[in-house]
Amino acid sequence: MVNLVIFGAPGSGKGTYASRLKTKLNVEVIATGDIFREIIKEDTPLAKTIKSYVEKGLLVPDEITLEILKQNLAKIPKDKGFLLDGYPRTVEQAKALNEIAKIDAIIHLVVPEWIIIERLSSRRICKNCGAIYNILFLKPKNDMICDNCGGPLYQREDDTPEVIRRRIEVYEKQTQPVLQYYKEKGVPFVEAKCEKLETPPEEIVDQILMGLKNLKLI
Ligand code: ADP
Ligand code: ZN
Repeated sequence: MVNLVIFGAPGSGKGTYASRLKTKLNVEVIATGDIFREIIKEDTPLAKTIKSYVEKGLLVPDEITLEILKQNLAKIPKDKGFLLDGYPRTVEQAKALNEIAKIDAIIHLVVPEWIIIERLSSRRICKNCGAIYNILFLKPKNDMICDNCGGPLYQREDDTPEVIRRRIEVYEKQTQPVLQYYKEKGVPFVEAKCEKLETPPEEIVDQILMGLKNLKLI
């Protein structure tokens, strides 16, 4: 059983790799961004509050995020580990997580900013199952239709240039310090570098699996 955090800038591919690692590592993936997008579809005061942050590229307040994290952690079977995608994004969130779970390693995705911007503006997502595509490099077999489930693909509302810039800014300011927090705590890191736009996800996933093996975590 292994508990992991996948960490990287918006567009570094966290969601893409997390969905592939899920089966290989037999872990539950908790992706706070996906959970928020589900909640936003509802017509509730909570949905409105969350939407007002997400659509601007800002972080949802820590109290809301932590509560949602706890609810989702509680659903995981006792003998199963987890992979967090999109949490923690602030040092406060990392400290709160530290009170409720032990993290075995941080998977750190290192991706240059130009790749991030290219990727996010060409990213498309399945409305039905959440599978992630890229109209330039990770194309679906049929135009705008999901390979997995046949659902329609769409572009996320926060994948627009202005909001992408804001998300990167927030990442630099609020999320980067989380790395320092884990380094100081001595939590091991697995680094995966992506230097080309067309690097296939499998290559990165293999780098990650190798790093976890070296740490004797799998
Ligand atoms: P990306 O990493 O590509 O920006 P996500 O799907 O992880 O996308 O997150 C989308 C948005 O959801 C973020 O911009 C933010 O508004 C909100 N969000 C996700 N996770 C968190 C979190 N841990 N704390 C606060 N806000 C979050
Ligand atoms: Zn689908």
